[in-house]
Order: sequence, then structure tokens, then C-alpha cells
Amino acid sequence: MKILIIGTGYVGLVTGACISETGIEVLCIDRDVEKIENLKRGIIPIYEPGLEDIVRRNIEKQRLHFSTGIKENLDGCEAAFIAVGTPPDEDGSADITHVLDAAREIGSSMKETLVIVTKSTVPVGTSLKVKNAVQAELEKRHVSMTFDVASNPEFLKEGNAVEDFLKPARIIIGVENETAKSTLSKIYRPFQLNGYRTIFMDIPSAELTKYAANCMLATKISFMNEMANLCERVGADVNMIRQGIGSDPRIGSKFIYAGVGYGGSCFPKDVKALIKTADEYGFSLDVVKAVEAVNNRQKEVLFHKIMHHFGNQIKGMQFGIWGLSFKPNTDDMREAPSLVIINKLLDAGAHVKAYDPVAMKAARAVLGESIGYATDSYDATLDADALVLITEWSEFRVPNFRVLEKVMKQKVIFDGRNIYDAAEVRENGFAYYGIGRKD
Ligand code: NAD
Repeated sequence: MKILIIGTGYVGLVTGACISETGIEVLCIDRDVEKIENLKRGIIPIYEPGLEDIVRRNIEKQRLHFSTGIKENLDGCEAAFIAVGTPPDEDGSADITHVLDAAREIGSSMKETLVIVTKSTVPVGTSLKVKNAVQAELEKRHVSMTFDVASNPEFLKEGNAVEDFLKPARIIIGVENETAKSTLSKIYRPFQLNGYRTIFMDIPSAELTKYAANCMLATKISFMNEMANLCERVGADVNMIRQGIGSDPRIGSKFIYAGVGYGGSCFPKDVKALIKTADEYGFSLDVVKAVEAVNNRQKEVLFHKIMHHFGNQIKGMQFGIWGLSFKPNTDDMREAPSLVIINKLLDAGAHVKAYDPVAMKAARAVLGESIGYATDSYDATLDADALVLITEWSEFRVPNFRVLEKVMKQKVIFDGRNIYDAAEVRENGFAYYGIGRKD
């Protein structure tokens, strides 16, 4: 069996590499020539634990191939997955231009029937647009050919993407008929040998399931951040609230940690896009709108704590930042809360030196030379007036206070993820600020 994956980013590369692991021949396509040339040599463009091994192994076995062209690689493929980016448009809706570009390219070159699977996160109705775009290209060529479309949204988490793909909690597949169902069942059977985890449904439901999942998770985060802000006002502790409610199986213990707000390539844009979809149907998604507003406010909470501590005067001060990526175990900087906090510090006239275990290159591409880049975590705190923890990488969890007190100018720690024991930090002579904590 042979399949094509169009778009070789976080989702396309992980999908292609993991599917090739089962023995299926996979052709990964991307329009980024440099990315494809590097991948052919086994150089991975992103940081994702375990991915490099799988990619290299399957290149060697000649099951995983990389190319820039759809046309010359489509022959003999039973399915083509579209996994290109769907960034937010100016009005917040998902921009599906790349998805439709890929669909048109398929339509202009396909020679035999296949299933065209949308894996990108796309608004309800997009698969129908894909179908129409392919059909229009076939008509331009005066060719009559049957083909199927399907929706197969992806649920992998960056930082754990390989594991998530190989052992999915569920696989969502939206189809219109048995042909598409049978092709996709064949591709996914190795990932759910007990058969329980694949949920087949109609295409609009599959498309909406992805947005509903991300908006629900974002809702949990914003809800807890609101609770944290309330805790600070009423003298309660959000960690206690988290344990208290997380022990209820109806609520669950995941995604209820207070912090500096959600970021990344998915939640912010998917929340926006679902609001927009509902608006287009004349319906106001009030809960989701509030989730977004709370998150935007939350990204500034740590900055306000900093300003308050220093009496609103931080001009010329030096801040050491620990963690830049939007979450640990990824180098993805898209919509990272660190960007909001750093830009606010810079706007207020402060200087910033940052350290992240893997996202330094990605951060430099966004922030340029506006901040200093440290060689290690303690270098970031050299002469710092405060240490600001933004992303909870493991290596930041147990700081060496003796080193910190030696190198820092003032002994203050702002903990944007509540990872430190406040009493221990204070026993070591540092002022401590967490999120929604009583101690
Ligand atoms: P990405 O930006 O990392 O990768 C997209 C790739 O598509 C890029 O390499 C780009 O060059 C390529 N591309 C764009 N148009 C193309 C075209 N016409 N032909 C060939 N290549 C093309 O994006 P991503 O993070 O992998 O996300 C892809 C989709 O999956 C998005 O819709 C996203 O919302 C969704 N998604 C992402 C994640 C995640 O954690 N990153 C998780 C689930 C779903």
C-alpha cells in the first residue's frame, strides 16, 4: 500500500513517519525545498522526542520518501492526506488556502481513484470544498473519475506526538461511504489492534469534533486561571482547588493547572476559528469567547505581578527568563506566552536574557536580537533583578539557590507555572510570586 502526505510539518511528518513504521510506503510532500532536502538526509526540522529515530529507520528501509512535488508522486497512492497549515486569517477564521491549493494540485494530476483525507484542522464544510476543488480540476481536464473525501483530524500533542500517534486515545474518521471507510481502516488498523478506538462518523461531525476538543481543553485552562485570579483576591490557594476538584472523576485532573495562559499552534487559532464559524451561522459561542478573553488577560498576569513588585519602575532592569517555547518538550514558539511577557518587559524599558533547552533558535527567529540568549539557565540570571519562569521544562524544577543568589542582582522569582515550593524559595531568601497561590 502506498499513500501520500501533503505538508510535512509537525503533523504531516509525524503521521508519515509513524504510518511508514507499519510497512506502508509513504511519500511526504512539502513545498519547502530546504526542509525536504534536509529530511532526505535524515535532518529533522522540529524537536519532537523519538521522531528522528523513526524517520531515519524508515528512510533506510525505503518506506519513507520526501519530495516537493505532488504530481510525480501520486501514481499508485490509495490515499492522499492533506496536513498543511491552517493559520488564522485576519478575521480569526481558519485560512484554508493551503488545503485548497493541495486539493487543486491533486485534482490536476490524479490518474486513478483515491481517498483524499483532510488531516489539517479545518472548519466544518471544508471537506466539501476540497471535493468541489478536486472535481473542478478534473472537469478542466475533461476527465471523469470517482474519488472520495474524508476527514481525519489529528489529536497528537507536540512534545509527545510520536507516542500519541502510535498509541492514540482515539482516531476520528469522517466518511461518506464504505470505500473511504475501508481504505482508512486498513491504514489505521495497526494503531488500534483491539479496534475500540476508531470512531467513524459523518464528515461535518468529524471536522467539528477537533474544534470541540480543543475548545473544551482551552475552557478548562481558562476556567482554572480565573479561579486562580479569584483565589488571590479571597485568600484561597488554586493548588488546593485543583486537587479538590481534580479528584472528581467527572472533572479529571488534567488541564486544570493555573499558569500564564495557553499558547501554541492550535488552541489560540482553533478557539478563534470556532467562534468565527459560529458567528457565520448567526450563533454566538459565549463560553468560548470568554475563554479567549480570559486567556488574553492571563498572558499578562505575570507581567503585572512584576510591575507591582518593582513599583511600576522596571526601566533599565534585567530579567532572566527560563523557558520560551509554548510548553515543554517542543521548540514551537507559536503564540507562546513568553512572547507576550517578554515584549511587555521590553516595552517597559527592561532588558531580557532568556534560556530554553531547545527553542533558542526558534525564539531568535521571532524575537531577533531584541533580547539576549543565554548559554545555560544560570547564565540567563546573571545580574538579573528577577528570574521569571515561563515554561516548566524539567531542568528548571530544582534550581540551585546558592548559584542564583551569587549571580542575581536581586533575589526575586516569578513562577508562571507554580512549579516551586514557595516556602523553600523563601527559606532561601528569595521573594516568591506564583499564580493563584496563598503561600
Ligand atoms: P506546520 O506549519 O508545522 O506544517 C505545515 C507544512 O505544510 C509546512 O511545512 C508547509 O511548508 C507545508 N505546506 C503548506 N502548503 C503546502 C502545499 N500546498 N503543498 C505542500 N506543502 C505545503 O503545521 P502543523 O503544526 O503540522 O499543522 C498542520 C495542521 O494540523 C494544521 O491545520 C493544524 O491546526 C493541525 N494540527 C496541528 C497539531 C500540532 O500540534 N501542531 C496538532 C493537531 C492538528
